[in-house]
Amino acid sequence: MPHFTIPEKMLCAVLPGDHSARLETRAVPTPGHGEVLLRMKASTICGSDIRCIYHEHLGKGPEGYQPGMIAGHEPCGQIVQAGPGCRRFKTGDRVIVYHISGCGVCNDCRRGYMISCTSEKYRRAYGWQRDGGMAEFLLAEEKDLLALPDSLSYADGAQVACGFGTVYEGLEKIGISGNDAVLVTGLGPVGLAAAALARKLGARQIIGIEALSERIAIAQDLRLDGKPLFDHVLPADAENVAQIRALTGGNGTERTVECSANAAARNTAIRATRKWGKMVMLGEGGTMALNPSPDMLHDQKTLVGSWVTSTWKMEELVERLVHWDLHPAMLITHRFPLEKAAEAYALMATGKCGKVAVCFDEELPAANA
Ligand SMILES: [Zn+2]
Ligand SMILES: [Zn+2]
Repeated sequence: MPHFTIPEKMLCAVLPGDHSARLETRAVPTPGHGEVLLRMKASTICGSDIRCIYHEHLGKGPEGYQPGMIAGHEPCGQIVQAGPGCRRFKTGDRVIVYHISGCGVCNDCRRGYMISCTSEKYRRAYGWQRDGGMAEFLLAEEKDLLALPDSLSYADGAQVACGFGTVYEGLEKIGISGNDAVLVTGLGPVGLAAAALARKLGARQIIGIEALSERIAIAQDLRLDGKPLFDHVLPADAENVAQIRALTGGNGTERTVECSANAAARNTAIRATRKWGKMVMLGEGGTMALNPSPDMLHDQKTLVGSWVTSTWKMEELVERLVHWDLHPAMLITHRFPLEKAAEAYALMATGKCGKVAVCFDEELPAANA
């Protein structure tokens, strides 16, 4: 890697919780034992940033944002300094950051699921309880890193941990094969990722449901391997269950992925799932009303919940993204430089977009650099 001098100060963005993003200047941190300093290249905005932090600091526990923390839990960058004691990664390596740093020794951490680390003292998510990726540099722990293959861009890598990793985990829990018609409810970035991964896993038919017209248009325009990503995109409607049955020979879908967190969409999702079918719930928040006997029991359905993913599963996904030639950056509709972080969050808060990214250097279109 060309010689690079680490500056003393860096620009970063924090979320005060009043529908704004504020730029600040901070000292560039120095990595300690087992830590690295990343030069940030891409940092995408998540629905949870908007839901729990941007408008108001609403989150509790793992979703509790500590005021003043640098935002951004979907970071990807290049190591410019490795502290003492690093065992695998070194200066110059391109890396993805698993977005929660766990204690490393509880049962969940030992399974690789640092998302559900049980240590109140040591579980700290990037961009929530420790500084995140909306900055020129990020201090990360080596154990939270994954190698970013050369054929994937930093913008691809930024979406692996929270977005595509969460979806991949959910799809693996219900299993997707060439037998399956798949319903995806909620076509924000998570729902679009669900469709893309389901396609690569062999799904024979993919149907999406979405309420926002802008998101319907984005979903209808997306293509994968030269074909439309979705077979059908339906506007959210009281008739959705009947429409899906009509599109699937009267049966409903073998597999369903709920990404909307909307109560009506959740009802559609479970009722449109075929007898003996399986549904995974990924959309965060909200409630759901269920009639267990007709909705689930009598039709022998399986309903599973899934929260983020593990480090080993994420590594497996990265390997498969390369084999599949699948680039998560396909979902990014808008890129902003860090100086325009406020615009980036404001756009994401409207929902009238695909994935929104704050980018640096080669990841930024020349016009914005
Ligand atoms: Zn996220
Ligand atoms: Zn732990």
